[in-house]
Amino acid sequence: MERTELNTLGEFGLIDRIKTKFSLQNPESVLGIGDDAAVIDTGDRYMLVSTDMLLEGVHFDLAYVPLRHLGYKSVAVNVSDIAAMNGIAKQITVSVGLSNRMSVEAVDEIYEGIKFACEDYQVDLIGGDTTSSRSGLVISVTVTGFVDKDKVAYRSGAKPNDILCVTGDLGAAYFGLQILEREKQVFLANPGMQPDLEEKSYLVGKQLKPEARTDIVHELAEAGVVPTSMIDISDGLASEIIHLSTQSGVGVLIFEEKLPIEDITMLTATEFKLSPVTAALNGGEDYQLLFTIKQSDFDKIKNVTDITPIGYMTESKAVELVLNSGSKVGITAQGWNHLQ
Ligand code: ADP
Ligand code: MG
Repeated sequence: MERTELNTLGEFGLIDRIKTKFSLQNPESVLGIGDDAAVIDTGDRYMLVSTDMLLEGVHFDLAYVPLRHLGYKSVAVNVSDIAAMNGIAKQITVSVGLSNRMSVEAVDEIYEGIKFACEDYQVDLIGGDTTSSRSGLVISVTVTGFVDKDKVAYRSGAKPNDILCVTGDLGAAYFGLQILEREKQVFLANPGMQPDLEEKSYLVGKQLKPEARTDIVHELAEAGVVPTSMIDISDGLASEIIHLSTQSGVGVLIFEEKLPIEDITMLTATEFKLSPVTAALNGGEDYQLLFTIKQSDFDKIKNVTDITPIGYMTESKAVELVLNSGSKVGITAQGWNHLQ
């Protein structure tokens, strides 16, 4: 039998391969594989369903991730996928795979974090599954949410000339991770040393405790704006822009000078001898929302703090970045490839 290595397809190639083998049979299944959440027709409204799994050693390192934060983050990243459909999350199920290294107190800590997130996002924990694991801690969360039928935002709805906006700032979570990794190495070499993360608390906080931008879903509703397309930034701006572009069948032009990058991110990029723009494009884990709106809607949201227009959609299929120097470069997807 033929054997093809997984990394020849990559994560997205593999998902596409699975997708082509299935078709939807039930009229209630409005949208299946391919967006931030599935869409189910429940009568008056659409129900949204999404699931995300976090694995020890792949998505987190217990050497520096507090269990409470991990619990919180596992919920926040799921709520973020519902927000990316312009919906509001309502329920979660949480499944855990536990190795015998975990104590009852450790599990309590994870669930403390989950509880905080349930309170912050007003979601109900309604079930889950508990198993033993031989390969470290596994946390898998499924979330359901709701959206009015005329407010749902797909990845595929962007039109030429729509304005591309992003929430918050970019690249901070990536440098938070770099700092945690660096401090871990320092600690392993000198177990007596206490890391001093005070100065970098903003970056570390963005990595350890990302927030889902449910607030923006409310802001958009208040402004009376329905995004023409939307996605959340889990893998990095570049990868998500390419998703909007390919699924909407339009090109994208973004401007380096418009990218929202905090001073501390800039400063830390210099320290690590890395480009802050590369971190914003390819760092990932920002969990901000990236969306397009009609030009005629721009005035309605231009005063919402925390929304930055960074470019616009074009007739061509090109996905490009205009650098501060004036030159234009193509953007390629370099989101985290979990399969490599
Ligand atoms: P996100 O980054 O927003 O969580 P993913 O890239 O994980 O989205 O997934 C993209 C789409 O592919 C989603 O619709 C998701 O449900 C679907 N998907 C991912 N993995 C699988 C799988 N193993 N089987 C079926 N669908 C999958
Ligand atoms: Mg997503």
